[in-house]
Amino acid sequence: MSGFVYSQKPITIESGEDVTLTGDDGTEYIDFGASYACTPAGHCHPDVVGAIQKQASDLLFVQGSYPVEARSTLTSQLAALAPGDIENVWLCNSGTEANEAALKFARSATGNTKFVAARGAFHGRTAGSLSTTWKPKYKASYEPLLEDHVEFVPYGDAAALEAAVDDETAAVILEPIQGEGGINAAPAGYLQAAREVTHETGSALIFDEIQTGLGRTGSIWACENDALVDSPVVPDVLTTAKGLASGLPMGATLCADWIAEGAASHGSTFAGNPLVAAAATATLDVIVDEELPANAATVGATLVDELSRADLPIDEVRGLGLMRGLEVGRGANRILRDLAMEHGILALPAGRSVVRLLPPLTLTESHVHALVEALEDTLEATTDA
Ligand SMILES: *Cc1c(COP(=O)(O)O)cnc(C)c1O
Repeated sequence: MSGFVYSQKPITIESGEDVTLTGDDGTEYIDFGASYACTPAGHCHPDVVGAIQKQASDLLFVQGSYPVEARSTLTSQLAALAPGDIENVWLCNSGTEANEAALKFARSATGNTKFVAARGAFHGRTAGSLSTTWKPKYKASYEPLLEDHVEFVPYGDAAALEAAVDDETAAVILEPIQGEGGINAAPAGYLQAAREVTHETGSALIFDEIQTGLGRTGSIWACENDALVDSPVVPDVLTTAKGLASGLPMGATLCADWIAEGAASHGSTFAGNPLVAAAATATLDVIVDEELPANAATVGATLVDELSRADLPIDEVRGLGLMRGLEVGRGANRILRDLAMEHGILALPAGRSVVRLLPPLTLTESHVHALVEALEDTLEATTDA
């Protein structure tokens, strides 16, 4: 057996440019999934490629205890983009590591052990973050994990959250919009309620913005998006990864002073390596300079309009900006296969009933037209069948 765990898709991708991926037979695909939100600036953005090439010829690697310009530039940039005053930046190589650090730092800073997480949550697949991930399929064969220390509450229910958090809680960890859970946005007042109860108990509030962050919802962070919150809700810890370095491995844990000051020993050899840091800085520059959050808001709104005008058999369109879930009943996987093989459109599932869209934030209205036309065709075929 060579290569396992991942199921292999029936197309081989050879190159990418902006929103388009090209297969080895020359077929072009519109990438509405961005391999789970990993290319917010588009595939192979010239500024990102250029920054990687330059850094590769200057310095590929020295470990994190040596100051290096590529790394300090990135940490300053992340601190400047961070909501509120959570300006202490710990770099790592993935989303699960960013959450793992968040959970560890919350324990050491509070002296508590208990975590509160939401049903439907996805926070990663290493032991700590996996313990706060909901789906039994991801966990059952690997237990025991930290199940004795994690309480799950229904997502969006402020009273249930308030009841679960107490003086023994190290942290509450939440996605402002659940991704893997089916694109469920926090209802009005929920994130604020999480902020208030964790303040009262001295627990850390962790927002996992690994999927929602970097402009996808229409603002750099979802916790500042006025479609979700009356005013920005600043957590004690915010995690980011996925698109941070345009698909190279990079994550970051942004921490308030009290968390950073309370952090005990932690580390990772490759964390914040100069090559990937240069890619991340270039990616963040593109997101800001090309005003991609605003584009995500505009094109995301067009998508919702066009879908409702097309009157398709879709029960609900959820999410914000260019993080969208289309509730299609049970056949999401067949729809995704048709979109890819018949229409050259790559999208993602979220469970069996949701088609999930997380395209590059450079998406245009003409891509939206192409998707809606393809859905008209595919959904009609599905309904007829
Ligand atoms: C993808 C994801 C993670 C895990 O990130 P990895 O880089 O795959 O470890 C954690 N939280 C959320 C919300 C994610 O979407």
